[in-house]
Amino acid sequence: MEELVALLREKGYKITPQRRAVIAALLESEKFPTAQQVLEIVKKTNPDVSLDTVYRNLGLLIELNIVYEINTQSSAGNVFEIVHIHHEHHHHLVCLVCGKTECIDICPVNQDYIAEVEKRGFEVTGHTFEFYGKCQKCREAKS
Ligand SMILES: [Zn+2]
Ligand SMILES: [Zn+2]
Ligand SMILES: [Zn+2]
Repeated sequence: MEELVALLREKGYKITPQRRAVIAALLESEKFPTAQQVLEIVKKTNPDVSLDTVYRNLGLLIELNIVYEINTQSSAGNVFEIVHIHHEHHHHLVCLVCGKTECIDICPVNQDYIAEVEKRGFEVTGHTFEFYGKCQKCREAKS
């Protein structure tokens, strides 16, 4: 937590109580929370915070590579995780039935792809990749 706060300060961002609460909510969530779930946690200490404020803070944290947004393709919305400090670059499995999200320690993008893209004069600054499907539990429930 304090490391993340220090990083934000270093980059010239003010640490508002809301911003601190958003980071704390992400850190204390057991599973990956949606923006709505982040809001519910933040509201316990900052009752006046709006969903808008949560989105704005999440947007900033994403830009700074502190938070990663996982596209769940679900109506409940995308989920978020703290990536800075705790994880190396990695990707996710998303269950389209129950919404369960899991980290997976592989990256399908290799240097050949990057080289191919750079041939076009394009500078790569990042990529996203998610596996979609059915988790083991949901598969077992069906059969
Ligand atoms: Zn599932
Ligand atoms: Zn992850
Ligand atoms: Zn990757």
